[in-house]
Amino acid sequence: MNGSCKLCPVRCGADRTTGRGVCGAGDKLLVAKYGLHPFEEPCISGEHGSGTVFFGGCALRCVFCQNYELSHAAAGKTMAPEELAGVFEALEEAGSENINLVTASHFVPQLIEAFRIRRPRIPVVYNTHAYETRAALEALDPYIDVYLPDLKFYAPKVSARYTGRADYFKVAYPAVAFMARREAEFDGKKMVRGCIVRHLVLPLCTNDSLEVIRAFAALRSPAWFSLLRQYTPCGDIAGFPELQRPITPREYKKVYDFVLESGLERVFVQEKSAADRQFIPDFSADKPLF
Ligand code: SF4
Repeated sequence: MNGSCKLCPVRCGADRTTGRGVCGAGDKLLVAKYGLHPFEEPCISGEHGSGTVFFGGCALRCVFCQNYELSHAAAGKTMAPEELAGVFEALEEAGSENINLVTASHFVPQLIEAFRIRRPRIPVVYNTHAYETRAALEALDPYIDVYLPDLKFYAPKVSARYTGRADYFKVAYPAVAFMARREAEFDGKKMVRGCIVRHLVLPLCTNDSLEVIRAFAALRSPAWFSLLRQYTPCGDIAGFPELQRPITPREYKKVYDFVLESGLERVFVQEKSAADRQFIPDFSADKPLF
């Protein structure tokens, strides 16, 4: 990160001690908000909620991001690793089921420092877009209990349209394969170790979704698969007419049926009602997350 950052696959070469990279991050952690999240998969949110930490900045920057002010405007409070360790402690004391790190791949060295200061006593969940280098994942791996990667796009033209990264699948697929090798362990209904690979179905992108599912199934991994129906028009999508609506029941059914036909057995699916703004966290400073 110092002098010429190559932490993520963007490899933008920013000197983060004096400025910010393409991800919007300098050399300090940016924490936008933290709190209990009741709307992750049931085995992650559990009874009391997932102790979620939202970081500012993002290397992937999807145009439709539902946390747009965090990912694109890199909103957040700068923090030292000691302070992040204090956030872990506060979430534990609030009864969190786990510590859920959302889009933190541009802060891997600082995360490791925070874990060395205070290792949470509850599972650590790594919630990522999967546009990650193998080196960063391997460095972080000893500290992570549950992986929660997205596998977002298959075709280069689709990922290029929505993120500017034509190489998304080429980078993310091996990253997901690395995370998905982890066997699941449960404490009652709570996942304490393992991997859930998520995929969000987008309007007019069902064929891309089928390729993503085919690729995930080909891994023959022990990971769970979570099919997300929650797409809600958000972010900077004025130039994307196809993104102005939720997905239709027909689009979802096509992808859902394919998941069933693919022989995947460990699967989460969402109800139609998941596509609602009430499930998008509120990042205003003075309000609770939900
Ligand atoms: S983590 Fe940020 S600064 Fe570093 S290479 Fe990636 S985009 Fe650039």
